[in-house]
Amino acid sequence: MDIVAAITRKKSVPFSIETIQLDKPRKDEVRVKVVATGMCHTDLVVRDQYYPVPLPSVLGHEGAGIVESVGTDVTKVKPGDHVVLTYKSCGSCHSCYEGEPGYCDSFFSENLGGTRSDGTLTLSCNGEPINGNFFQQSSFANYALAHETNVVKVPKEAPLEMLGPLGCGVQTGAGAVMNSLQPRAGSSIIIFGAGSVGLSAVMAARAVGCSIIIAVDIKLSRRNVAQELGATHVIDPRKSNVVEIIQGITSGGAHYSLETTALPMVFRQAVDCLALRGVCGLVGAPALGTEVSLDMNNILFGRTVRGIIEGDSVPDVFIPKLLELYMQGRFPFDKLIRFYDLKDINQAAQDSESGVVIKPVLLMPHGY
Ligand SMILES: [Zn+2]
Ligand SMILES: [Zn+2]
Repeated sequence: MDIVAAITRKKSVPFSIETIQLDKPRKDEVRVKVVATGMCHTDLVVRDQYYPVPLPSVLGHEGAGIVESVGTDVTKVKPGDHVVLTYKSCGSCHSCYEGEPGYCDSFFSENLGGTRSDGTLTLSCNGEPINGNFFQQSSFANYALAHETNVVKVPKEAPLEMLGPLGCGVQTGAGAVMNSLQPRAGSSIIIFGAGSVGLSAVMAARAVGCSIIIAVDIKLSRRNVAQELGATHVIDPRKSNVVEIIQGITSGGAHYSLETTALPMVFRQAVDCLALRGVCGLVGAPALGTEVSLDMNNILFGRTVRGIIEGDSVPDVFIPKLLELYMQGRFPFDKLIRFYDLKDINQAAQDSESGVVIKPVLLMPHGY
């Protein structure tokens, strides 16, 4: 079928909106009429080829929409169901069997390979091959082809156009707190970086009852949003010694910290600000090969550094949980979102990179 998609043709060039062709679903696939798709930092670093995803390609991995058609073997959803699209895992490696799909052995090939698992393409432009299957969805388009395993059914009462970011950025930040660090009620947590991932972590920390929630960010507008969402303190790292201030507020050090910026210097602060036996979660993804130095004695005294992918989320379980908290008013992630039409995708990217907008969400050209 013909679809309208934003194509990344070359490294770091603007997205171009084109009419291209999308395959029909195979027996285990689901075709989704996309309503809206969030833009995540990963889309932009792939556009700029920090990760070697083959081009030309259709990116987009925070899609939400309505199931349009399904393959013959699909039982999880049916046409008309509302779904959020998320990352895909293989289902048959050690981590997948242990219920840790974020650490799937095939994570890179399943999500960044540009093709179906068997290497075939799902997109073309009048005969020219186009790489798709980005996070097995390529949802910068008004229709997307997903696999049965990476669609998550959501209730029809929920505001579908808002839900795409639950599939990546929001579950990454919230999951890092609720699934990975699991702070006890009354504990302290420091969130480094108040972008969409960090702010999702702030909301989650409030939801689970942390008593001290400190957000660290260089941008005043983001610090203000952090306070609105539950941060008890905010710090501008350019104006002060972050570690000392945190030690002061927490009377000696934080129980938990979360690094979302991918900057080595900030990661070091996230470790140094911990109390004895404190845990630092790392979700910021730097360029391959990035190194950082740490004081070994700091780690020796019971501290833990823990890498976290996709918030340790099992999406079929975790996304409905977040949605329930949202519907109860306890996880207001809608405050992060600004909508753009798909045709304005380059403006959305620019606003995201400059920090004017925390989470751009692209509305697809057909409404619903
Ligand atoms: Zn796997
Ligand atoms: Zn993402």
